[in-house]
Amino acid sequence: MSGSVAERLASVRERVAAACARAGRPVESVTLVAVSKLKPADLIREAYAAGQRDFGENYAQELRDKAAELEDLEGLRWHAIGALQTNKVKYVARAAGAFHALDRLEVARELSKRREGAPPLPVYVEVNVGGESTKSGRRPTRSASSWMRSAPCRPPGGGADGAAAPTEEEARARADFQALRELARVHGLPGLSMGTTHDFEWAIEEGATVVRVGTAIFGERALKSP
Ligand SMILES: *Cc1c(COP(=O)(O)O)cnc(C)c1O
Repeated sequence: MSGSVAERLASVRERVAAACARAGRPVESVTLVAVSKLKPADLIREAYAAGQRDFGENYAQELRDKAAELEDLEGLRWHAIGALQTNKVKYVARAAGAFHALDRLEVARELSKRREGAPPLPVYVEVNVGGESTKSGRRPTRSASSWMRSAPCRPPGGGADGAAAPTEEEARARADFQALRELARVHGLPGLSMGTTHDFEWAIEEGATVVRVGTAIFGERALKSP
């Protein structure tokens, strides 16, 4: 992939706008989260300088460290998008403006505790619609229903999050997004966090309110070292 971060960001924004237009949706109805995991802080500064304000991080300590390093960037919002161990909830509770990977009630309880007195954190309940066995999250079964109804998971502004199966097959990916949209609707969850570099235009056409795009903005990532 070529071009500067600013150029790539502009191109992703154009694609977001075009997908919104095809779906008959206002462009403001979609939040573009630039996923900066494993990328250095200076690239985040470049994206910020180009007007980007929402950034996604997967790993709790990396989020904590980058939030400290980039504290001077006013209005920057961090989205924690990776599954959390309970002992790392504190980092997310402090630094994040939204949490996109709620997969256990225990984590919800710990978050509520750590956020006491702070404004409520929009939380997205993770649903495994794509059937990827490697991803944590709930399958959309009956148990998911009771899970999604549980009070600590439903602060204002949150929703459901998930991923389509990694596939080149458009119909299959769209079916996964539709399943997620339907679950969110049934449970009265307003937000839909779905779609990555691979499939964010389909996700927008299927109703995504948040897309999480990394590679198309920041380039390929190195593998996370153990
Ligand atoms: C890494 C990641 C993304 C971004 O993926 P790209 O393919 O780089 O756009 C989105 N969502 C989650 C949960 C991720 O871990």
